[in-house]
Amino acid sequence: MPKGHFICHSCSKMVEFSPEERPCEVLSGWLTVAQWKGLGVVEHYNFCSFTCLKKWVDAEVPQVPEVFLRAFEERKRGGNANL
Ligand SMILES: [Zn+2]
Repeated sequence: MPKGHFICHSCSKMVEFSPEERPCEVLSGWLTVAQWKGLGVVEHYNFCSFTCLKKWVDAEVPQVPEVFLRAFEERKRGGNANL
């Protein structure tokens, strides 16, 4: 039987397991995210660490424009009109 493998969705690190090994042992410390995409459709993503999971999440989350954030900062400082 061929070896199975898991690939980290973020850094492409690969871990192989033979048919005698259980994935739960090989994947100790890994994280799997399931995304429900519709009726009977589930996408699974594997990550080797929280760092890789966060990198992926950061890339997926829509970014708040920098300008918008800066406007908030300025208001907190007391609305310095010179800036
Ligand atoms: Zn990784």
